[in-house]
Amino acid sequence: MNCGDIPYHIDYSPLQELRGASLVVLQLPDGLRAYTHCLLERVKRETGARVVVDADPTYGACDLHYPRLHSILGADAIVHVAHTPYPPDLSWPRVEPEGPPRIVYLQARSKAEPPIEAVREAARILRSHGPGRVALTATGQHVHVLRGIREALLEEGLNVVIPKGVPPYFEDGQVIGCDYRVARSAEADAHLIVAGGLFHPLGLYLATLRPVVQLDPYRGEAVDRTRMFERVYSARLYKVSRAMDAKRWGVVVGLKTGQYRPWLVERLLKLIEERGGEYILYAAESLNEERMRAIDAAEIDAWIITSCPRIPLDDLHHYEKPVLTPGEARMALSGSLTPYIFPW
Ligand code: SF4
Repeated sequence: MNCGDIPYHIDYSPLQELRGASLVVLQLPDGLRAYTHCLLERVKRETGARVVVDADPTYGACDLHYPRLHSILGADAIVHVAHTPYPPDLSWPRVEPEGPPRIVYLQARSKAEPPIEAVREAARILRSHGPGRVALTATGQHVHVLRGIREALLEEGLNVVIPKGVPPYFEDGQVIGCDYRVARSAEADAHLIVAGGLFHPLGLYLATLRPVVQLDPYRGEAVDRTRMFERVYSARLYKVSRAMDAKRWGVVVGLKTGQYRPWLVERLLKLIEERGGEYILYAAESLNEERMRAIDAAEIDAWIITSCPRIPLDDLHHYEKPVLTPGEARMALSGSLTPYIFPW
């Protein structure tokens, strides 16, 4: 792979902070693995350190592996590419360690940009949802295109806002798979999200229950996802209603660096006890259907995953027992289908 072909603009300037480090771990999303050698050389050159590439997957800034990278490997710094720091109020005690390893985030901006025809199509779809306010959001690698898209939508006569970010965790208009507070703060009537895939648009819909139009920079198209996501929403409500009769719960506690949420676990356990239920606590770093089948038991009626809320939603959506996000579990335990709570 030619390093000039990297499909992202990467800001390497934070590497200056790591001059003098001796062992640096480089963490990349799988989408950038093909260019590992380019980033590796750059990190070596800028820091002067020995660099080890983290071969384990990292799907977000909630998953930095720093305890073992420091205690076993002796890393004194981590370079994490393509995510902003995980919001500390969602994890405990905080995502980043007080001391070593130092963690430096390199932002990666996708070179893929939605064509103007797709933006105009998005405007047409949004108009079909009524004249209200539109919130314009994006995943981290696309936030840099939001201002230009907003200008184009204003020219189309739409009332468009880019919701304010919360630095350093969220840039203006930025969402992550388990946190849509920036989008919700706009109190918009409809949402336009710049993202590839369905992961973030679906989360945005469930967090707002407003029409969601996706502007996909990779496919160069605008698609109204609202109907599709309404069906997912109905299926989630069905799972919540089934879990309302659950007496015995399996509660999964996350062990990834940003996915340990004891405050949330305690709150859910209290709700279970108040309803006369019982629980078994499980601790897991990762969970998929295979592991779920391995740990599941006839005694358990329903599950709550407190680590990553996308596990019940994306990976275990078709599991035969209800597997709920924390927000959905709160609904089931309070015996109410409204309001729908996603994700926490
Ligand atoms: S959605 Fe899951 S993997 Fe992504 S940042 Fe949130 S907890 Fe991490």
